[in-house]
Amino acid sequence: MLKSRWQVLLMVAAGLMWASTAWAEGKAKNVIVMISDGTGWQSWDAAAYYRDGELGRAPTDAFKVKLPVTTYALTDGGKGEQPNGAYDPSKAWDDTVIGGEDFFAGYAYLKQHATDSAAAATAMGTGVKTYNAAIGVDNDGKPVKNLCEVAIDLGKSAGVVTSVPLPHATPAGFSAHVLQRDSYTQIAQQMVRSKLTVIMGAGNPMVDQAQAAGKNPDFRYVGGQATWKLLKGGKTSWKLLESRKDFEDLATTKTPPARVFGVPMADSKIPTTHDLPDDQRTTPSLAVMTQGAINVLSQNPKGFFLMVEGGAVDWGAHANDLGMLVRESSDFYDAIDTVVKWVESHGGWDENLIIVTTDHGNGLLLGPESDKVFLQPIVGKGKGELPGARFHTGHHVNELVRLWAHGAGAEMFLKLATNQDPGVTKYHPGWGPAYGDNTDVFKVSKAAMEGDASACATECSKPAQPQPATVGQ
Ligand SMILES: [Zn+2]
Repeated sequence: MLKSRWQVLLMVAAGLMWASTAWAEGKAKNVIVMISDGTGWQSWDAAAYYRDGELGRAPTDAFKVKLPVTTYALTDGGKGEQPNGAYDPSKAWDDTVIGGEDFFAGYAYLKQHATDSAAAATAMGTGVKTYNAAIGVDNDGKPVKNLCEVAIDLGKSAGVVTSVPLPHATPAGFSAHVLQRDSYTQIAQQMVRSKLTVIMGAGNPMVDQAQAAGKNPDFRYVGGQATWKLLKGGKTSWKLLESRKDFEDLATTKTPPARVFGVPMADSKIPTTHDLPDDQRTTPSLAVMTQGAINVLSQNPKGFFLMVEGGAVDWGAHANDLGMLVRESSDFYDAIDTVVKWVESHGGWDENLIIVTTDHGNGLLLGPESDKVFLQPIVGKGKGELPGARFHTGHHVNELVRLWAHGAGAEMFLKLATNQDPGVTKYHPGWGPAYGDNTDVFKVSKAAMEGDASACATECSKPAQPQPATVGQ
């Protein structure tokens, strides 16, 4: 039956009101946090030049919220040590020529006291600043609740996906609680015994390098030999996926399994789609893994939380390997494209929140003459070509990093960004001067999942209080 013009207008008005109410409340059914590990400010541009030939075509360029954030750890010493982490804008942009290997005072400042991936993942995953190497624990070693646990408490599903070993620092900071990041067996066991719905990452014991060298397989990334035997034998509630076809089928199936533990046939990291010809790749791409994870998680009518990590951009930066950095980043951009496409056909931006960022800078990758020109931009050389660039270190950097957010609750980041840094706007027009902190990822994600943006506006401005977590065995 045709409706009158008034009825139609009323329906449109009601629809608009509902949509704007949903946006204002910032309630997100699904929250997806995507972290490109170790991607410094200009590294994003290096990847965009390589992937698209020019800037402005990355998926994040269409995101509504973009914000610089600080990443420093509470302390770069050990557990319980006095806090020494900080970011000082007056020092970060100091272009005084000092000579030596640092060239400028600002470069020298940024190379000091950077966070590691564990403290940064814990800050983003739990809202609590802690010591370097800490996984989901505060500076006293006490477990603090992470976003996966927050989601599960709300009746949602939760998952973590990474291109590097599954108990590595970033997925671990969102899903486990241990005192030291290198306790891989313990972390993987906690993950296997948790209430997560999806765990995906490299570290398959059947292809590890130790075994290739004639030694016994290394089972630490899958929680030890006994845990692996249970997974392989179908003795758990996890569906184990290993082959590329397994993952590709998961990305397209209409009937996904209830829980997926996916360990592609890669020991330390999955190769990117640029590393090998397609017919030689035995592992899925990060984008395919991400699509598969979403297919499993989205079966829950209450929604889900997902953390996706491109883990090896960081490794390219540590090695000052520009080719590796841009190939890894490029596949990470592909994974963002996959998520955006899924959101647009599954509830849109009133129902979904995407946050894209990194855990810290690495390599201080700048333009080719940046030893003479302070913060010289990277120079694009066309699609598929390495840009003109220069690394200034092989370590993490305490620079501001880029964060983008789009969808339900994204604007909460702007409310939390109460610090000002004119330097960021001077050197990176369109960014700042307001800046936030990596703990805002937890605050905004939690508030968006709980649907309580008004509470976030006041509560989130206070320092996060550690919340006890339930620790797996
Ligand atoms: Zn990292």
